[in-house]
Amino acid sequence: METKLIVDVARMDREGEELSGALDDSVLELDDPYVKPFAGLRYELGVMLFGRELLVRGRLEQDFTAVCSRCGQDFDFTVKVPDFAASFEADEKTQFLDLTEELRQSILLNLPTYPVCRVDCPGVESAAESATDSRWDVLDNLTKGH
Ligand SMILES: [Zn+2]
Repeated sequence: METKLIVDVARMDREGEELSGALDDSVLELDDPYVKPFAGLRYELGVMLFGRELLVRGRLEQDFTAVCSRCGQDFDFTVKVPDFAASFEADEKTQFLDLTEELRQSILLNLPTYPVCRVDCPGVESAAESATDSRWDVLDNLTKGH
């Protein structure tokens, strides 16, 4: 997979262009052992030159596998940026523009600081509690005779 998204400004269609594809997971440069990107940073973008500015707008998606900060279980989630927008200076001398860093920042901004597997994850303690609490079995046994 590509590790950079570079727009060839000098040769691009003046009517604008659509860019779509995926960048390699290494683009994110995450060194968090509990959160790992996979399957690439997917983008669907429209780019257009307006005078001396290149405007970029579209959608981004990145899958992650993470360790839940409450219960410690692995789970997958997707960071979606449905309204990515950025502008870049482009004068008549600009030939290439690298959009990679803006894409990366946008995904990282939308990445939760403490990922949880689900909103109501009970966490480690209560999960262990219900598993070892045998009083409920006693109640079950009491009612089995009926
Ligand atoms: Zn959890």
